Amino acid sequence: MAKLESLTFDNSFARLPEAYYSRVCPTPVPDPYLVCYSPEALALLDLDEREMTRPELIETLAGNQLLPGMDAIAALYAGHQFGHYVPQLGDGRAILLGEVKNAAGEGWEVQLKGAGRTPYSRGGDGRAVLRSSIREFLCSEAMHALDIPTTRALCIVGSDRPVYREDQETAALVTRLAPSFVRFGSFEVFYYRNQIEPIKHLADYVIARYFPELTRLSDPYPEFLRRVALRTAELMAQWQAVGFSHGVMNTDNMSILGLTLDYGPFGFLDAFDPGYVCNHSDTGGRYAFDQQPDVAAWNITKLAQTLVPLMSVETASQAIGEYPQVFGKAYLERMAAKFGLPPGSETASLVMDALQLLAQNQVDYTIFLRHLCDFDSAAGAVNAPLRDLFVDRAAFDAWASRYAAALRQLGSIDAERAAAMRRVNPKYILRNHLAEIAIRRAADERDYSEVNRLHALLTRPFDEQPENEAYAAEPPDWARKIEVSCSS
Ligand code: AMP
Ligand code: MG
Repeated sequence: MAKLESLTFDNSFARLPEAYYSRVCPTPVPDPYLVCYSPEALALLDLDEREMTRPELIETLAGNQLLPGMDAIAALYAGHQFGHYVPQLGDGRAILLGEVKNAAGEGWEVQLKGAGRTPYSRGGDGRAVLRSSIREFLCSEAMHALDIPTTRALCIVGSDRPVYREDQETAALVTRLAPSFVRFGSFEVFYYRNQIEPIKHLADYVIARYFPELTRLSDPYPEFLRRVALRTAELMAQWQAVGFSHGVMNTDNMSILGLTLDYGPFGFLDAFDPGYVCNHSDTGGRYAFDQQPDVAAWNITKLAQTLVPLMSVETASQAIGEYPQVFGKAYLERMAAKFGLPPGSETASLVMDALQLLAQNQVDYTIFLRHLCDFDSAAGAVNAPLRDLFVDRAAFDAWASRYAAALRQLGSIDAERAAAMRRVNPKYILRNHLAEIAIRRAADERDYSEVNRLHALLTRPFDEQPENEAYAAEPPDWARKIEVSCSS
């Protein structure tokens, strides 16, 4: 494990022509302090954990100094926001410092979110508040522990420099890590300016670095587009299966690598509700939970359009044409595993009927699936804890007897199936009320113990943690009033 001084930075994105970014240094903040960090993310940089106590590192991650080899830039991009094209976006508050290559040969770009104004800040102050930074930090690391592709969060640094939103709040910076932060919108910006060469050049860059196996092809672009569509389909299957709602699926928040990117007003389902809208500002429900796979498909067509100058329309539409089948198959496979069944049409109907029952009875999605791991498939078994989640017991009994019959017919062994199901049905997710409690304590009392406890808990979401049983419970009544919007 290395010391700070031995990190070598190499900023390949900053070696691209300046059309893609602006050089801009972070704006310093007074008296930065460490709020929390992720040891797992630190290990990605091969950094020794003791380095987190060094003021030099905190000053760097606060944007107060740059290390040798860093080349700070803000990336340019555009995007479709709520269906409308916005030509001028870009990193308004995120600054890329450079890329660290670890001993395993992986490259990790290091980005500070909330590092001050950039040429793309528009009216914004370039800052992030502690509240939203804690949510991003916890959720990035929780998603990773759930095996869902995501950008990572190394740490949060706070400063008493005030930031003004509805009220005065505490400023914070999240250090994010990803192989690349390139978005669909990074391509769109040039398409709508009628600049073909930069689209091709960016595609070449992304292909060479992240899809190197395609460089052998004489025409790699259609296959590149196909791979992006497939990764996005897989990601949507994972979101839908775990009950994650992103909240702001604009094309500028869609990663070219199929990572979960830009955590804002996201939410995990509590009671199963297909129409769940986590973003208070999304009054039309454009990004409702059950819309996500279709929205992603729409976003992919926007990406395909930007690549049409590099291929024919027919080729582009063929390249993305598999998305619905790939999503459907990936989703069914994940749901089948969560129900302890093989994928197939009988499983699909058992799953869909279960989801309908959950919605009708307002049953907690995560709790239902975790209880389902312990299902007793013997004829006549009552499965009381599971049954008690439903108001309509008769409907549950009818479904449970179908499920039990299917399991018996497969020769499924209860104990074996339970162990396998517990590895895909998390016990612990980042429920809004848990984040809210941690945030309040951090903001009001500068007590970060709850953030750390949640972080530790969520890095082992599939494990039974008897001391943390309360964190697996349904939200309390007060939590229904929590509203999360984009203004963070
Ligand atoms: P988001 O909804 O966080 O994905 O942000 C949408 C766009 O607004 C991005 O280009 C952000 O960089 C920019 N943005 C969000 N908040 C701020 C802020 N406080 N200051 C400057 N730009 C911001
Ligand atoms: Mg964004």
